[in-house]
Amino acid sequence: MQILDSYVCGAWKAGAGEGAELTNPTSGETIARTSTKGVDMGAVVRHARDVGGPALRALTFEQRAAMLKAVSAAIHAHRDELLDLAAANGGNTRGDGKFDVDGATGTLAAYASFGKSLGDRPFLVDGEGLQLGRTARFWGQHIRVPRRGVAVHINAYNFPAWGMLEKAAAAWLAGVPVIEKPAAATALVAWRIAHIIVESGLVPEGGFQFLCGSAGDLLDHLRGQDCVAFTGSATTGALIRGTPNLVEHNVRVNVEADSLNSAILAPDVDSGSETYGLFLSNVALDMTQKAGQKCTAARRIFVPRERVAEVGQDLVAELARVPLGDPAENGVRLGPVAHARQHADVIAGIQKLSAVADILTGGTEAPRAGCFVSPTLLVAKDTNEAVLHELEVFGPVATILPYGGDADEAAELAARGEGSLVCSVYSNDADWTERIVLGLAPYHGRVWLGSDKSAEQSLPPGMVLPGMVHGGPGRAGGGEELGGLRGLEFYTQRVAIQGFKGLVEARFGQPPG
Ligand code: NAP
Repeated sequence: MQILDSYVCGAWKAGAGEGAELTNPTSGETIARTSTKGVDMGAVVRHARDVGGPALRALTFEQRAAMLKAVSAAIHAHRDELLDLAAANGGNTRGDGKFDVDGATGTLAAYASFGKSLGDRPFLVDGEGLQLGRTARFWGQHIRVPRRGVAVHINAYNFPAWGMLEKAAAAWLAGVPVIEKPAAATALVAWRIAHIIVESGLVPEGGFQFLCGSAGDLLDHLRGQDCVAFTGSATTGALIRGTPNLVEHNVRVNVEADSLNSAILAPDVDSGSETYGLFLSNVALDMTQKAGQKCTAARRIFVPRERVAEVGQDLVAELARVPLGDPAENGVRLGPVAHARQHADVIAGIQKLSAVADILTGGTEAPRAGCFVSPTLLVAKDTNEAVLHELEVFGPVATILPYGGDADEAAELAARGEGSLVCSVYSNDADWTERIVLGLAPYHGRVWLGSDKSAEQSLPPGMVLPGMVHGGPGRAGGGEELGGLRGLEFYTQRVAIQGFKGLVEARFGQPPG
């Protein structure tokens, strides 16, 4: 059985021992193993700091932006091969695979374009200068410089390509080397991309290392200039954040965790409107794309009480139009969940939800052999049941929750998720929308608005865009990524320079014009 190797300290190295198993969730067949046993994690960290960091910092922002563009193109050239691997190891349909792989190359390309205009100084100017003294002679200016450490990226199983490269894009543009660790269960796509990156020779040695398997004692080697960006479950996120060495050395940690996202239908939306059609198709897309294994997928669907029967019927009809089957086959739009453990989790989750909600379609019965789950829509018996606001069932599952139609009530119910990545709101009433946005905002990273005016051009709420921030407070991890150049903040040190205006402004101020 092939052991997927790691790229560390300038060489490919296969770990020792049995390692973890990668399977095909459609057939159940074992396709490879991962192991990092025997990798010297301290040496990996030193290689990044001593070799990768200086090499990346020797490039200007513009040169690093050009590097991102070239890496994007190198990966895109292998797109079909990567989509096949995503079907084999992740259960991804072709559309699901594209969402991940094109999302990865698209984000690299977007960061290449954000970086193009950053010029050739080794720092970024942060805001305007400020008079500090009695006269303008004593002046202050903030700048941001690349930190002198390494960025450790620990990624979730559901986006092996995008998860790795959306993080690497921001770190590389900032001038910081990365150590990427994919989730073991679906590492095949990330592993192939790692080979493509190394073979391309585009990233300076030490700027990219890849750990295919367990992180071992990696986090114990980090210090105050290093950082960890983690994506995965809230439980693992809490464990990583609490790692004593990270706490002791104030290592920056960004956590992107799970989330009980919601979709809210306002009472003004009538069933013949474009907004209603958009609501139905977005909810069905969230439930079925990547078999519902999207951190941004809506799990709670808030619907005015008197519309629940109608919406339930329409969503069931929408879901019935999504063909389920072998993701490698043409036309299939719903594949299996990614592995057997995940399958067992989803079935157990449906069982828990069905104690407080009626199943309208789907359920725990397997539609076919393999890790398949039927799209499962439930309707809550009582919207106040805590489990509906606490349990993320990470599969093709969502629950309709009836509410009274008031904007403040809907915002308060959505906030019971204790912090989510995204909430989508469907309304054509500007006053109602303004009220709910302000109620939702403190509890969300993103609020997405659907209306007749934007329906035709809107991108779905489950799609994370490189120019907008991604993350959410509380339960969602409390982290923030992307958001254009905001994404570089995590990898740079903001420093206040104070001194004679003539010097501070000329050397560290905004460039003229
Ligand atoms: P997970 O089990 O928490 O694993 C995430 C990553 O952490 C994996 O790479 C895993 O490695 C690693 N890991 C586990 N224990 C570790 C430890 N003690 N030290 C260092 N690394 C450790 O999550 P998952 O099942 O892959 O992902 C599903 C969850 O991710 C869902 O809840 C979803 O909502 C969330 N998610 C959130 C976002 C977001 O942006 N907010 C995006 C995608 C997914 P191994 O695989 O080798 O164990």
